[in-house]
Amino acid sequence: MVCLSCGKVIEFHQRLSRYIKRNVAEAKDFDIAETEIRVSGYCAECHRGKR
Ligand SMILES: [Zn+2]
Repeated sequence: MVCLSCGKVIEFHQRLSRYIKRNVAEAKDFDIAETEIRVSGYCAECHRGKR
């Protein structure tokens, strides 16, 4: 996850990749070799700072 405000990168990729591989692959009968996910938004600090 990338914060659009301060540019901080929060790593969550491994857990989500496992989740997607298990659930999506089963649901769609698709053999996933690689996943690339990009999520952007605002981290907790910037979110709080906005208010
Ligand atoms: Zn931030």
